[in-house]
Amino acid sequence: MQTIKISNGVKPKLLLHSCCAPCSIYVIEKLAQQFKITVFFYDPNVHPRKEYILRRDEMKNYAKKIGLDFEEGDYQTKDWFDKAQGLESEPEKGRRCEMCFDLRLSKTAVKARVEEYDAFATVLSISPHKDYQQISVIGNKLAHQFGINFLDRDWKKKNGFKIATKMSKEQNFYRQDYCGCIYSKKQQKVI
Ligand code: SF4
Repeated sequence: MQTIKISNGVKPKLLLHSCCAPCSIYVIEKLAQQFKITVFFYDPNVHPRKEYILRRDEMKNYAKKIGLDFEEGDYQTKDWFDKAQGLESEPEKGRRCEMCFDLRLSKTAVKARVEEYDAFATVLSISPHKDYQQISVIGNKLAHQFGINFLDRDWKKKNGFKIATKMSKEQNFYRQDYCGCIYSKKQQKVI
């Protein structure tokens, strides 16, 4: 990935994929000095719809509060379920999660390319229940495929997850107790 720098006082444009406010708050704080961030909420993996709306609205309201642009992707659950067929019993960090990252990051990468962002990124790696290597490989593959920079970071490093948890408690964010899909709900892990 090429170095992305502030040029003539203008911050580079970053399309930041977000899954929820608790996972995003720390990442946004880390990147806001360097980038002009647009938060992209594209998460057709989150079920049921009521839960999706809770997470979306919490993120949307926080983006508004701190003055960031917010965009929502299509809630195409059929596409997600079609791709999850045969992967229902996979554990977290398995092949279903790989598919899920690929779907969400593909949409983010294409949007970033078409709308002429300087880079795309995701907050997903902040969760200790997600495999950073899976996210990194997929993000870099898409960057190469679509000709757009991917900001490749393991956000859970340097106590990232712990700090994010503290920050979200201070904001009194709604916090879910499962990753997002109905299969992870059965496992009921706190992300
Ligand atoms: S556990 Fe999370 S990342 Fe994995 S498939 Fe389900 S929603 Fe996607």
